[in-house]
Amino acid sequence: MTTLLYSHPSSTAHDPGPGHPEAPARIRAILTLLEREERKGALMGVHREEAPQASRVQLERAHSSRYVDAILAAEPASGYRRIDPDTVMSPGSAEAALRGAGAPCAAVGAVIAGDARNAFCALRPPGHHAEPERAMGFCLFNNVAIGALEALAVHGVGKISIFDFDVHHGNGTQAIFAEEPRVQYLSTHQWPLYPGTGARAETGVGNLVNRPLPAGTGSKQWRRVVEADILPVIDGFAPELIMVSAGFDAHRADPLAMLELEEADYAWVTRELMTLAERHAAGRVVSVLEGGYDLNALANSALAHLNALRES
Ligand SMILES: [Zn+2]
Repeated sequence: MTTLLYSHPSSTAHDPGPGHPEAPARIRAILTLLEREERKGALMGVHREEAPQASRVQLERAHSSRYVDAILAAEPASGYRRIDPDTVMSPGSAEAALRGAGAPCAAVGAVIAGDARNAFCALRPPGHHAEPERAMGFCLFNNVAIGALEALAVHGVGKISIFDFDVHHGNGTQAIFAEEPRVQYLSTHQWPLYPGTGARAETGVGNLVNRPLPAGTGSKQWRRVVEADILPVIDGFAPELIMVSAGFDAHRADPLAMLELEEADYAWVTRELMTLAERHAAGRVVSVLEGGYDLNALANSALAHLNALRES
């Protein structure tokens, strides 16, 4: 069984401007490292796919029609357009966002059809801060949520767990699924930190698990929390598909936050999630890139994650 790796050149056209951490270089760093590994013959079982654009129907399961229109119309013909204090569009941003949302939809279809065991979507902009009617935190469309909604609506998947190990809380994903018992959203994140949501008391309809962690939390403590409060809850839910909001900014080298994870932690959690996916979901895992702003740590962490996925 193969692991699909979705990407598209449009991911490097979206440019939030000089000095912005969510830069085109993020995708170049990941793909350059993966291509180097590929040439060494070290990525056996990984099959490259071009990310398609999400359709209006797919986008409008997570966002209002008015919001989708506004984002697509906001792309400037030249220069930059700021649509939130942190979120900026440039020429090419709309296509990048459409393919960022289209990749998880295609990935979900492929793993449900049995064409691949699992998939990693290496595109930008990220998505987990995007709310139904609000772009924020570098995010335009909520890619992982759009993929999950595709699985529910088109593929008859009954239950989905989304684990978000990005260092920031996925307020957008939580907002989209807070009253959707078929989707379980679980997040470990630094707190206090942007965006300020994700307190333990935020439990939705019993489908949200938030574990805020203090600055300085390292591998051992984080793994203990994942083992105690995340993995058993997924196991109990018995999802038919596991999705991952794979942000690598909880890495100790990341400049935007102060958790202290390492590449090995991402490989570990990926293997743990795959064990649960084998038990409940015929091995199906669809992972979607979120943050990660130290280019070396990002690329190495994404490689560790992809290697764990393909070694299933
Ligand atoms: Zn983040």
